[in-house]
Amino acid sequence: MVTPGAGTESTASDAAGVTSSSSRSHSIAADRGWPRANSGRTHADPGPILAPSGLPPVGVDPELGVPVYVTVDRTLRVKVTDACGMACVFCHNEGTPVVIDNRGAMPGDYAGVGRSGRVSIYVGSNGARFLPDMVVPNEEFASVLSTLRASVGVAELHLTGGEPTLHPQLHEVIRLARSTGYEVRMTSNGENGSRMLPACAAAGLERVNFSVFGTTADELARVQHPKVAGRHRVERRISALRRSVRTALDLGLKVSANIVVPDVDHAPRVRRLLTEYAEEVTVRLLPSLDAGRSSIIAIESILTDLGAVPTALHFTAGASDYSTSYRLLSGQIVCFKRIRPVRLPRTCTGCRFNNDTDCQEGFYGLRLYRDRAGGYQVGVCIQRMDLCLPLQQFLASELGKEIVGLRDADRRELCSAYQ
Ligand code: SF4
Repeated sequence: MVTPGAGTESTASDAAGVTSSSSRSHSIAADRGWPRANSGRTHADPGPILAPSGLPPVGVDPELGVPVYVTVDRTLRVKVTDACGMACVFCHNEGTPVVIDNRGAMPGDYAGVGRSGRVSIYVGSNGARFLPDMVVPNEEFASVLSTLRASVGVAELHLTGGEPTLHPQLHEVIRLARSTGYEVRMTSNGENGSRMLPACAAAGLERVNFSVFGTTADELARVQHPKVAGRHRVERRISALRRSVRTALDLGLKVSANIVVPDVDHAPRVRRLLTEYAEEVTVRLLPSLDAGRSSIIAIESILTDLGAVPTALHFTAGASDYSTSYRLLSGQIVCFKRIRPVRLPRTCTGCRFNNDTDCQEGFYGLRLYRDRAGGYQVGVCIQRMDLCLPLQQFLASELGKEIVGLRDADRRELCSAYQ
């Protein structure tokens, strides 16, 4: 299973829209042949979910009658560590092999499943050629960030892992990123946040997207490898997540709770999440990529039951994710985050996964890794890690121009479609 935008989860990429029997659920079905950048194979990425950067809407969606906001993707996702205390069965691990299970293995022999119980769901087919290492917050890293900012216009750093809060110098990573002009956000499972977040906030962290894999021990245990699914262990994880969310809120950080909804059986979990968190936290419902259409139908059904009314559409030009925000009968706001079929116009053309089902995430934005030889690698797709390039090769290639061109074309198409 894959979960969009939730760090190392895998999310849904079914961009085919859903219809349902009730008129309300018809209004919830917001997907209908999105504008496609670059002749018909599109995509998008994160960004402001509820507060569209103060920009006015570009227009009104004719079907939903809600304002449409378009921002341009400026994100750079950085895998700061491979370490993680969880073992989610759907983890994409940012496309890289799990280090602890692949030490000593050569490229081509990397295993997607190992003795630790952790998985990296695409490693069996994505051509990964390196093992990731921890990012070191030094001058070289600052230089890499500055170079990418200048060459491809990225300005928002998204810290991923593994679990970023297990990086012992995370606050220094954030401080360096801020000093080079980036806004900094993080996706976290919450296992170590109460200890790390105060220093991270002081260093300039702006937002934390918490991945909520379960609101009860049973729920969390169901999505963990049996090796880490013991009752006491999962209960400790849930308590740690609660403490981390509280800490983030007390520190004044912006906080989101991401929850993947594979099917309607997860409706009680969504309700518990809304009860527990939605007063202070932005709740985002994410479809499961490998559950596909049934996951989208499940979320729409849950929204309908909650009396959800759409309030806005948010697109990020140049990357695959987009979201619809809803107001519930209770007055709470929730977001439904999904995937558009955005593609890089040249790179994706010859890709064997370039069809409506195999390409699960679309072009989701730029990714940065540090390999175990100490070099930096730039990636454009977790399903095609063979496309990763060492930084200097990336800078010398046409990929950067392709990404910038995609953003511009996609922004123009989105704006003209809704004006
Ligand atoms: S490289 Fe292939 S899998 Fe990756 S976004 Fe492009 S088409 Fe999809």
